[in-house]
Amino acid sequence: MSKLVNGVRSFSTTASSLLADATSASRSVAQPSSFQVFRDVPPLRQLRHQLLKNERTVGFVPTMGALHEGHLSLIREAARENTDIFVSIFVNPTQFGVNEDLSSYPRTWDSDVEKLEKLNDELGRTGAPGAGQITAIFAPTSKVMYPTLPPSSEIDGQGSFVTITPLSSKLEGALQRHYPDRVYFGQKDVQQTVIIKRMVQDFLLDTKVRIISTSREADGLALSSRNVYLGDRRRAVGLTIYKALKAAEDAYLSGKTTRADILGAARSITDRVLSEQQALPPAERALFEVDYISLADPDTLDELDLVDSTKGGVLSAALKMAPLEENKPGEDCGLGDGKVPVRLIDNLILQPRA
Ligand code: AMP
Repeated sequence: MSKLVNGVRSFSTTASSLLADATSASRSVAQPSSFQVFRDVPPLRQLRHQLLKNERTVGFVPTMGALHEGHLSLIREAARENTDIFVSIFVNPTQFGVNEDLSSYPRTWDSDVEKLEKLNDELGRTGAPGAGQITAIFAPTSKVMYPTLPPSSEIDGQGSFVTITPLSSKLEGALQRHYPDRVYFGQKDVQQTVIIKRMVQDFLLDTKVRIISTSREADGLALSSRNVYLGDRRRAVGLTIYKALKAAEDAYLSGKTTRADILGAARSITDRVLSEQQALPPAERALFEVDYISLADPDTLDELDLVDSTKGGVLSAALKMAPLEENKPGEDCGLGDGKVPVRLIDNLILQPRA
């Protein structure tokens, strides 16, 4: 702390005194040193009010934990624009379909907290005046998030849902006091970004939505919490999703605008790789299924037959890596020994042409 410049030190002092007030009512959990963990909504809201009164700004980064560099890039961006950052960690059951991997989704609380503490150190060390730091982690239980009904993953499941319809401007004042100034999402979940932007617009929320580009491995594979389950063999074949999207993007960049031309380029990659894999013996191959490859309008996500090159489009795909059929001795098959199916998603934005 002694190395910090004055602005940052006084920021830290103010933040901790605000936190002390706001968390006195929160349930006790093991508290890390540089931020506080909130399990319930009211004390977090209280902190938000106090920060607002002190003319501080809050950037919110919602996550499901199992943090990686992609998540950290969202927080770094939030630190450039806000004094305080709230990070949520909640594996949201309703974000998983009935047959999806809710039970096997990685939960890595201790290493998440460690990464966030390290990042706070790094953010403190930059010493830039006004540079923000993580003030609060919101880690609710399902009961906190779904107080009246246990969450359901069925599409027509019961519960309280938000319907995106025009809303009276009367509500604006009431709503905005509780909301962060800015909220950060990754480009990787493109559908989420479009829905959130629409919701903020239609609900007249005074929150800015920031979309941060996808963090990738050196070879292009998008970082994802689920990648730990891949292992070497499925990781190598899983890169097909990126290669296929790249081929489609190249087709667009070379002047193609029809769905057949653009998605055909992606399909020819996935088809070729799949038939190569099918020809290999079970101990050598990694099979997959293409869930979808989509070419869609950037605002509505409606499928496009033709890209309007003044508007561009969204290329996206989901690919399901099947469990390995046979492991080889000494092979790195990933967490879960190659038995956990892994669904990879990725997308590329087709930029409008001048
Ligand atoms: P998740 O924990 O997977 O729900 O993701 C939390 C937030 O991090 C979402 O806004 C994601 O879009 C974002 N995110 C996930 N992976 C990446 C990535 N590779 N690059 C940038 N943002 C990401």
